[in-house]
Amino acid sequence: MKKYGLYIDGREVDPQGGEWLETVDPYRGEAWASIARGGAEDVDRAVAAARLAMTKGAWATMSATKRGKVMRSIGDVVAKNAVRLAEIEARDNGKLLAEMHGQLAAISECWYYYAGLADKIQGSSVPVEKPDTFAFTTREPIGVVAALTAWNSPLWFATVKAAPAMAAGCSVVVKPSEFASVSTLEFAALLKEAGVPDGVFNVVTGLGHEAGAALVEHRDIAKITFTGSDVTGTRIYETAARTLKRVSLELGGKSPNIVFADADLDLAAAGVVSGIFGAAGQMCSAGSRLLIEKSIKEEFTQKLLQMAKNIRLGDPMDPATNVGPIATPPQFQKVLHYIAVAKEDGARCILGGKPAVGPGLIGGQFVEPTIFDGVTNGMRIAQEEVFGPVLSIIEFDGEEQAVEIANDVDFGLVAAVWTKSIGRALRMSKSLEVGTVWINTYRTYSYMMPFGGMKRSGIGREQGIESVNEYLETKSVFISTAEGAPANAFVQR
Ligand code: NAD
Repeated sequence: MKKYGLYIDGREVDPQGGEWLETVDPYRGEAWASIARGGAEDVDRAVAAARLAMTKGAWATMSATKRGKVMRSIGDVVAKNAVRLAEIEARDNGKLLAEMHGQLAAISECWYYYAGLADKIQGSSVPVEKPDTFAFTTREPIGVVAALTAWNSPLWFATVKAAPAMAAGCSVVVKPSEFASVSTLEFAALLKEAGVPDGVFNVVTGLGHEAGAALVEHRDIAKITFTGSDVTGTRIYETAARTLKRVSLELGGKSPNIVFADADLDLAAAGVVSGIFGAAGQMCSAGSRLLIEKSIKEEFTQKLLQMAKNIRLGDPMDPATNVGPIATPPQFQKVLHYIAVAKEDGARCILGGKPAVGPGLIGGQFVEPTIFDGVTNGMRIAQEEVFGPVLSIIEFDGEEQAVEIANDVDFGLVAAVWTKSIGRALRMSKSLEVGTVWINTYRTYSYMMPFGGMKRSGIGREQGIESVNEYLETKSVFISTAEGAPANAFVQR
């Protein structure tokens, strides 16, 4: 079983506390590697290395153009190692290997994208109203960035945080989820080959309330970028407020898939099924609420059942598998708990509703694709994030009611609208309180498009050009061009 140390200042080191955690393959239910259980002292070391690199070290003195070239090389080494990294990811969190191949290609491209931005970050000169004054702004790296990531796509999250941060000139300390840290560590080990100076990208693995909390509290961290649950995000936000750290939060969702009677129903059904059962529903953007127009409810429900019954559960490495296991034992229990809650609250289970067993389903962490009918939006199953393969069907009558139900949750991450009317599509996209709207599609992502949530789904946006701003501070500089001392120094010129 391979043992992975921390990655600090360009090399692998043992944790100060000398303790290790097992990381488990959720499909086989077996530990397959061990990772360091980092603590506050390790965080201190990592932050010190990161701070040195970006204030006095090679990263600080490197031109932005050269920094961009180094980041291009990161894209190259990722592409070269994509097959291996995809296998690691699928093994560590149970996501489909085929999906991870796609994700690795996007990770490599994402590094190229932000590499191109590195030398296009610039301030401006401002024609201020003062006489004899030249004024300009600069855009400076915000400082050392702490990136805390969830287990469902760890290397993707590390990339969409570290790439814009590094383009801005920041250095980074990543704390991946204790359930899936290996891909981030393997990625870090490739950075020397790409020419990344020591200390620019560090990884401290360990538990959230130990290594994670130490990072959030560290006085030399300027910015926290977090992907995870709303509960942890709230705690981090509260802690960060004490030291006024800048915070971006990418949290959960309770996203609606809204199907109107005029939609292409086959297309919509495929979107609804992949939107909730893809990755076993373990996506922040899972379409966990189906809002269906009353007049087509029966017909559409039958289509859904037909498709959902054909889903193949199994080994994430097998190309024939549609859906893999639930990634962690606590998450497995949480999904079953919510199924029980939905039943108690009076929702009608019309598909699944229990652990899936059978040949090829080893490890004991599969849940049957589950559909509840007769859900009202006030029920817990319609309001709280399950993060599993559980769909709630909620009926609506007309556009106005669809908007009302869609927005009547605390979350606001994504929504999809299925309709052939362009007018309705545009009206809906304006009215929905979410960060991303999909029209006649679901799970369409691009690193060039901002992603993030409204309301309880988060703060800030990742991806796209504007995410670089999350890692920059603006500085204003005034220069007096006047000759001689002013007649009265107490009067502003
Ligand atoms: P989590 O909140 O349990 O953990 C996320 C990270 O925070 C982990 O690295 C964990 O170790 C760390 N952490 C936990 N407690 C901490 C503390 N007290 N201080 C500092 N760090 C701490 O989330 P998870 O279970 O890993 O991921 C699932 C959640 O992530 C879901 O709610 C999902 O919706 C959300 N998510 C959001 C997005 C998005 O982009 N909006 C994407 C994927 C997942």
